[in-house]
Amino acid sequence: AKTDGRNLVRVFEPWMEQAVARRIQLVSELRGALDGDQFELYYQPQVEGGRIVGSEALLRWHHPERGLVGPAEFIGIAESTDLILPIGAWVLRAACRQLARWAAVPHNARLAVAVNISIRQLMEDNFVRDTLAVIADTGADPRCLKLEITESMGIEGVEETIAKMEALRRHGIRFLLDDFGTGYSSLAYLKRLPLEQLKIDRSFVRDILVDPNDASIARSVVALAQALGLSIIAEGVETMAQRDKLLELGCHRFQGYLYGRPMPAEEFEDMVAAGVAR
Ligand code: C2E
Ligand code: CA
Ligand code: CA
Ligand code: CA
Repeated sequence: AKTDGRNLVRVFEPWMEQAVARRIQLVSELRGALDGDQFELYYQPQVEGGRIVGSEALLRWHHPERGLVGPAEFIGIAESTDLILPIGAWVLRAACRQLARWAAVPHNARLAVAVNISIRQLMEDNFVRDTLAVIADTGADPRCLKLEITESMGIEGVEETIAKMEALRRHGIRFLLDDFGTGYSSLAYLKRLPLEQLKIDRSFVRDILVDPNDASIARSVVALAQALGLSIIAEGVETMAQRDKLLELGCHRFQGYLYGRPMPAEEFEDMVAAGVAR
């Protein structure tokens, strides 16, 4: 640290400058990604009763130098800038375009697509209008569109959020609460959100066979969903043993590497056509 003449210690160490520089570079590269068509949606199958019933759309970035980059490396930065808004809008449009394409193919027609929505998007005044405009433009069936939100929304703006969710729900769009159990929302808040589904977080599924606490939590989430009239899905299902345990606890819908990793749309179509093995 350097000291200037008046006892003020400047806290910028060289590594911090590097981190700031990396951030600035990432932000400018993300802008380029939007302009340069470097994003792609991958689709991860969701399975019930041995059938693919839908998918979650997961964003991928074809970085010109670094290759395929996952969202963990850039969604946080996008959320801390306004970039999540155009990126989120791109994602929604791409997913709706895909839905419309699949609707034209009989055996794909009913497949729902779940899209991750950042709270920043939901807080936008025009979120309802913009989302409905994308539906109209693309011709997607809103009943096949699910929006995944997380508990990290915090309490401010809940009234408005609920009103927006209800407005979209009137058009057939469904909402689900992602990563359930990892956030801090109260049950009273959960009760008020117009949700259709809860998603059991991967962190409870991972050790479900060895940690009785995780099994208890999963069981409670299933019971809670049933009490609230919500459907339930578990993410991060990697083994048949985990799947069987979840079935025993009352969860019948799964997403995870056991069935397939997130994959390009064409691969997903092939998988739907071939049917699920497990
Ligand atoms: P998420 O919504 O919890 O998505 C599930 C993540 O778990 C995905 O990581 C997926 O590849 C991974 N996963 C799925 N099955 C398994 C499994 O069996 N085992 C393990 N270990 N992992 C599994 P991904 O694609 O890297 O996405 C990470 C996060 O980035 C997502 O977590 C979501 O929060 C965010 N994200 C992804 N796409 C978007 C997007 O379009 N918009 C926004 N706002 N966020 C996105
Ligand atoms: Ca998700
Ligand atoms: Ca999740
Ligand atoms: Ca998760």
